[in-house]
Amino acid sequence: MKISNVPAKDAVEFIKKEPIAMIAIGSVEYHGAQAPLGTDYIIPDYIVKELSKRDDILALPPIPYGNCQSIKDFPGTINIGTENLIRVLNSITESLLKHGVKKFIFVNGHGGNIAALDQVGLDTYEKGGIVATIDWWNLAKLLSPDYDGGHGDIQETSVAMAVDESSVNLSYCEPLIINDLSEEIKNKYISLLTYKNGTVKIVRDFKSVVPHGWIGPYDPKNSTKELGERILKDVIQYIGDFVEDFKKVQR
Ligand SMILES: [Zn+2]
Repeated sequence: MKISNVPAKDAVEFIKKEPIAMIAIGSVEYHGAQAPLGTDYIIPDYIVKELSKRDDILALPPIPYGNCQSIKDFPGTINIGTENLIRVLNSITESLLKHGVKKFIFVNGHGGNIAALDQVGLDTYEKGGIVATIDWWNLAKLLSPDYDGGHGDIQETSVAMAVDESSVNLSYCEPLIINDLSEEIKNKYISLLTYKNGTVKIVRDFKSVVPHGWIGPYDPKNSTKELGERILKDVIQYIGDFVEDFKKVQR
């Protein structure tokens, strides 16, 4: 049930059954010229809306903004920072804890939110609740090697197409350019760099690493709606299965 789209009396009765509250959390940020700025919240929001059809999920409105400090130099990106995100999410879990909801699932679409979500998970646990966080893009990679991907590459672009094909324009795709730190220290991913046989983490401004705003193993120009639909179907199935067992956890 969507908490805000039914008569309040029905929502109140539903909350008494102590459902699992589910919330989509994302960002508004650049993902390459071809993908929508809302990629990171549009996708989790779709997942939560699909799962809200279950009779044990209380779907909350999404949080579209996140921590985008490293990527904020790309036009269109909106950064609210980690501390604000923590404050908002802790206020949401506190409000619902007060009304008897103890279990939460955060469906996350943005890597920059992870530190905030970890903090809120622990804060909520200390108040008697419990939070499960699912980073959908990492989950997808584990479900099938075909679903591998990075920031604004084939994975996210395909899923954005599956949610709303008109939000993507593949003719805008630009090539992958990575500005390595040096000849010896090269970017493997956004802040993960290789040096000799090991890796080192160096966090830099995103635009100076990848001027076209996307990075990943697979070019977004090969994105398809069909791939996105398969990823969404499997991710939604997995989270549905997880809900069945999360319900049984005592808290
Ligand atoms: Zn993203």
